[in-house]
Amino acid sequence: MALFSDLKLNPKILNAIEDVGYQEPTPIQLQAIPAALEGRDVLGIAQTGTGKTASFTLPMIHLLARGRARARMPRSLVLCPTRELAAQVAENFELYSKNLKLTKALLIGGVSFKEQDQLIDKGVDVLIATPGRLLDHFERGKLLLTGVQIMVVDEADRMLDMGFIPDIERIFNLTPFTRQTLFFSATMAAEIERLTNTFLSAPLRVEVARQASASENIEQSVLLFKPSRKDREGTEKRKLLREMILNEGSDCKNAIIFCNRKSDVDICAKSLKKYGFNAAAIHGDLDQKHRMDTLDGFRTGSLQFLVASDVAARGLDIPSVSHVYNFDVPTNAEDYVHRIGRTGRAGRNGKALMISTPRDEKNFNAIEKLIQIEIPKIENSSLNIKDENRKEIQKNVAMQNTKGKPTAKDNKVNNRFSKSLATNQNEPSTSSEYKDEFQLPNFITKSFMERLSL
Ligand code: AMP
Repeated sequence: MALFSDLKLNPKILNAIEDVGYQEPTPIQLQAIPAALEGRDVLGIAQTGTGKTASFTLPMIHLLARGRARARMPRSLVLCPTRELAAQVAENFELYSKNLKLTKALLIGGVSFKEQDQLIDKGVDVLIATPGRLLDHFERGKLLLTGVQIMVVDEADRMLDMGFIPDIERIFNLTPFTRQTLFFSATMAAEIERLTNTFLSAPLRVEVARQASASENIEQSVLLFKPSRKDREGTEKRKLLREMILNEGSDCKNAIIFCNRKSDVDICAKSLKKYGFNAAAIHGDLDQKHRMDTLDGFRTGSLQFLVASDVAARGLDIPSVSHVYNFDVPTNAEDYVHRIGRTGRAGRNGKALMISTPRDEKNFNAIEKLIQIEIPKIENSSLNIKDENRKEIQKNVAMQNTKGKPTAKDNKVNNRFSKSLATNQNEPSTSSEYKDEFQLPNFITKSFMERLSL
């Protein structure tokens, strides 16, 4: 067994790793860390779930432990495509450098310029940023990149999707060519290949197996579904989603539910809440604080179902997601790999379920072609929810909703909703039909579920 202690990292970093509880380095860490410690450029072809973040943060902390930051000249730079990912990288630095004194600043949307300016003015060892925000600061004359000794580009493939490549090139050109570069991407599109050929110098190429093909611990399935009418597709899919969740019973500890469109993320989260599920939405239009709070809730377990768009969910480090639901078949096959990679992480088992309609056939075929696996199909009729599963769900929901007891007025509302369901009144099918009246107080969900004997 390989050991972290063989990696010649600063003992203070090794102590921090021990506190986190990692037993052994992951394959990418094992290969990338020694090369980075030697000052080599690294090209990591890997995605989240492989331990890639620690494969660059650990050597950076080691290398930065010597020396001091100068005003307005960060010593290292980490570029991330999304704010969430940047915040997560910052958390990683915090965790692994807790026994060392390193300063860092986070330049992401939604965080005030003033505070970050003050930090940068004093001098930071690590600057973690999204490309746009970094260039904003640079253009305001607040920042010099000529002191950057180590530069990291994380999730370059997503940068490409988001149109950040010109920004990245510009940033590369603002840093000294003598810098060390650690570059990560899940895939190597031609444009990314070009970028690495231009800006990396004789890098060590570390490729870790694709998650979809490598991760045998993700059980995948797809439900082929034909809506009864085109205009009822959303409603029927949401009903199906609920059944697919209930069908998993207590195995479904928590789940990320992916939708292709932000509007569907909102509708889906609202609908799940209405039916008593402990769900919340996360997508790019929600403000930063809201997104962070939602994510924290999901991480700590106070939120069970996170309904997400691809961009918002990319790179989220949530180690123990039991299920991923693809409410929509992603239009980009690579996104499927990223989505299902949220489960079955760090050796745990996970389940990935998807709903596919006849309209999705082309995209679905592209996924099977990419992952070179035939995804097992499940029959709609096999979704007869077992009684014991209903009981488990009821128990789970009861545990999630411990706040307050319903008042007589609440019970009245509750009754109304149970009745509307009992008479099989369908939920609204478009977002405009969603009114506040469907927002039930938090505690109602419990008795609501009980009445439905779910
Ligand atoms: P990443 O690929 O960087 O998103 O990391 C995926 C998950 O693996 C995170 O929850 C890390 O905390 C965790 N992790 C990173 N390195 C190790 C390791 N050596 N052993 C176990 N878990 C790890």
